[in-house]
Order: sequence, then C-alpha cells, then structure tokens
Amino acid sequence: MLMFVVGIAAPSDADAKKRRGRKVWQEYRVKPGDTVKSVARRLGVKGRSLTRWNRLKKRKIKPGQRLKFKGVRVSSESVGRPHKGRLVHGINLDPDGDNQGLGWSINTSRKTVWGTPETVRAIKRCGRYYRNFFPVGKTPSIPIGSISKRDGGPIGKHKSHQSGRDVDVGYVRKKAPPPGHFIDTSPKQLDLYKQWVVTKCFLDNPETKMIIMERSLVRALKKYIKRIYKTRKAKLNKYLAFFPGKKRRAVILPDTEHTSHMHVRFHCPKNDRRCIP
Ligand SMILES: [Zn+2]
Repeated sequence: MLMFVVGIAAPSDADAKKRRGRKVWQEYRVKPGDTVKSVARRLGVKGRSLTRWNRLKKRKIKPGQRLKFKGVRVSSESVGRPHKGRLVHGINLDPDGDNQGLGWSINTSRKTVWGTPETVRAIKRCGRYYRNFFPVGKTPSIPIGSISKRDGGPIGKHKSHQSGRDVDVGYVRKKAPPPGHFIDTSPKQLDLYKQWVVTKCFLDNPETKMIIMERSLVRALKKYIKRIYKTRKAKLNKYLAFFPGKKRRAVILPDTEHTSHMHVRFHCPKNDRRCIP
C-alpha cells in the first residue's frame, strides 16, 4: 500500500517567524536563463555576495550549477487562486531537464512544470507507485503536462494552472503515444487497469482536491472498479465515494473537455496563508 508522509507537528507562529527571519546557508540550483543578477534578486541577496560566496569568475553561471548563499530561508508558496494566482519559489518537476523520472515523462517542448513541493511530490509518488505495478521497459510512463510557470500566472490556453496546484496527467492508453504526449482517448482506447492505478494513487493522496475527467471515461472507470472490487465491498465503497453520486461532493468531476488528460488539483498547502482554495 502507498504510505504518506504526515507532516510533523506545526511549530508555533512565533517560532516560524523567528525562523523565517534568520539567515542561513542554503543552496540554489541554477536554471536555464538565470543570471547572477536574476538569481540574486530571487533570493533577496546582493549579486556581489553571490559572486564572492561562490568564487564566480566573470559572473558566469550555468544551468544545474549549485550556488551557496546565505539568506532568509526560502520556502515555496502558492498565492491566490488557481485561476488568478502565482507561485513563489516553486519546484521544478524535472530539474535535470531530461524530460522524465521514475514512471513519468514530459513532452520535450514542455517548460511549464513548476509547482509547489506538495504538487511535485504527489506526481513523483504516483510515478513510483505506477512503476511498482508496471516495470520499466514493459509499459510506457505516465504523460505529464503543464503544472505552472516558474512564477505562476496565466499560461496560454489554460484557465487555471496559475498557482502551482494543478497538473495535467495524460491518460494511459492501450496503444501508447510518444513519451509525454497527450492524445484524445475513448473508453475503448483507455487501459483501464493502468489508468486506475494512476487515478487511485491520486485519490489516495489526501492533498488531492479534485480530478476532472471526460464523462465517458469516468463511467468506464467506475464500471471497472465495480468489477475488480466485486468481492471487496469495503474497498469498493471507499473508492466509489470519490465518484459523482447523489448527496456527496465527489473528487472526480466529469466534463466533456478532458478527453486527452485528467486535470488534478491539490488543496492549498498547509502553511500557505495567501493561498485561496
Ligand atoms: Zn489542466
């Protein structure tokens, strides 16, 4: 079974404030497009100090390089709403830029894979979970699409995806597309077993707020779990409760648009005070 790391007891506000104000040595990993000036601004330190601490020659830095700095502890924050928000100190799902990790891949052109640590952790956890069932080489990985831009805000045609709490997860098809690609999928084309493993993993995460999927796929998945959990009523009821039904707020929301991927949204991270559900 999947285990979750439960957060340690929350420290008092005063403690948190004191810790936030104290300067500590930390490390920053250089991203493509970064300059000494832009990194210094992001971290709230002087460019001169950054150069000195890291003995940089001619202020040259390259992606992947690690820079030491002493400053107020940086922590990520999801600010505002998914439809009108931003991301502070987000984490990149693919920091080494190889477009893949254990159990997941992204399209090579995809650059919008920044999220809160909670979001990135959830995706990686489900990639690992998926690989426990379906080993490398035998099954293609889960296609991952957009999360958010580095600092959040609007991205192209997406309405949400602005605050690091949304991720598009491509359906697992019987006939897999190239890694990281999304293709419109009918219930017949869906690999129900693998898709259920992915969906179940996100449902098992209490940080998941909702999952939007195309209506006929939701129906197919519901029918599927009724079949596989036929003799395990408790399990069946537990998972059916996530599906739309009378008198409950479902986690899985059917629509007509999500034909190539499901859209997963996470709750506001616990300490992100400016996050709006
Ligand atoms: Zn989406």
